[in-house]
Amino acid sequence: MRLGCIADDFTGATDVANNLVRAGMRVVQTIGVPKDAGEVDADAIVVALKSRTTPATDAIAESVRACEWLRGLNPTAQIYFKYCSTFDSTPEGNIGPVTEALMDAVGSSFTIATPAFPDNGRSVFKGHLFVGDVLLSDSSMRHHPLTPMTDANLVRVLQAQSRRRVGLVDHRVVRQGALAIKQRFQQLEQEGIGMAVVDAIDNEDLLTLGAATADMALVTAGSGLAMGLPAQWGFEPNASAQRLPQAVGAQAILAGSCSAATQRQTRAFIDAGGAALPLDPLQLAQAENPVADILAWAQPRVNQGERVMVYSTADAESVKAVQARLGTQEAGELVERTLGAVAQGLVRLGVRQLIVAGGETSGACVQALDIDRMQIGPQIDPGVPWCYAHSPAASGEGLHLTLKSGNFGSDDFFIKAFKMLNNEAAV
Ligand code: ADP
Repeated sequence: MRLGCIADDFTGATDVANNLVRAGMRVVQTIGVPKDAGEVDADAIVVALKSRTTPATDAIAESVRACEWLRGLNPTAQIYFKYCSTFDSTPEGNIGPVTEALMDAVGSSFTIATPAFPDNGRSVFKGHLFVGDVLLSDSSMRHHPLTPMTDANLVRVLQAQSRRRVGLVDHRVVRQGALAIKQRFQQLEQEGIGMAVVDAIDNEDLLTLGAATADMALVTAGSGLAMGLPAQWGFEPNASAQRLPQAVGAQAILAGSCSAATQRQTRAFIDAGGAALPLDPLQLAQAENPVADILAWAQPRVNQGERVMVYSTADAESVKAVQARLGTQEAGELVERTLGAVAQGLVRLGVRQLIVAGGETSGACVQALDIDRMQIGPQIDPGVPWCYAHSPAASGEGLHLTLKSGNFGSDDFFIKAFKMLNNEAAV
């Protein structure tokens, strides 16, 4: 195990794992900090936490626990603190406080911060974060309900949440190559700087930065830097890093996301003649045993090897109407709880290939399936890989699953994903 990542949310963990696999590392993602010291056979391990918006003290405690667990596997592994490519945080944290706690934990006196991910339109220039063509503070992130980002100057943003002094390695230095970057790191450290925001506007910059940071005890970044690090340790993109066991068993889709992309994807599946059961939260709230009803619909189909989809995906107007009747929180929890129980039931019925659409929905399903770690496989669409895991519901057998963040994936994602997993032509 060469690299230990600590990700501050679930789909962000899969995102960084996906980039590492593509760069040639074999990656296992754990859900939270595992209880046992355990043997994990992988080149990199990503611990998925839910620490982005929790109180800073909780985020620190969990992150340090993850760090200690990872260093228990290999004390010299590099630690990579992964956060969102839009630097989602508040003046209280959690990026600054967690970074400083991790620096203390690994004994690091200097580290970097860069959320740059040019492939996804996130670039950092002169310390300012751009989302597509606009500054972070002019993007829709300024209206985020939990972490509104109203300042694009990352040096200022990080300084506001940190005790150590924050500096900048600007693009003129990055362009000069890894050696120049390292010299700048030394210079900044001598000036009393503990953390440096580093510019990166294209993949070439991330590769250079990978070369300059491969021997640091701790790095902090979005998922972009993961493209540049593995090559420094001799890894090369290869098919075996992403190979998962052969897929078997029945196929199912659970969609709890109401995003525009998921609406198109469920529609495409239905239009192609797929067997689909819509869920109406108002009916769920009244039914005596909705999960049994759903499974009764699914069972004969699954037994015949037919692919099934259960979805609560609806347009904004219907969601609003449901929320007005049930309450936003309550409606969300009801649907998540139901889909989680359906996931468990379907796997008990023999489903071994499962697509889940929606970040929160994925969390609920993984929890219901009692999955604590997943091996990361090939990418289906940017940021979304197939994974392989064991669940007690599969009575000891393995299960393939993909957890799609709501807005990710092409319109034909559901059909394409199964084709790819089963090596069918015309992917
Ligand atoms: P995304 O990744 O698109 O944000 P999530 O699964 O994270 O998807 O969030 C979707 C939320 O909406 C979940 O809490 C889910 O239970 C809830 N939800 C799903 N369908 C409906 C619906 N028809 N009406 C109201 N809420 C819904």
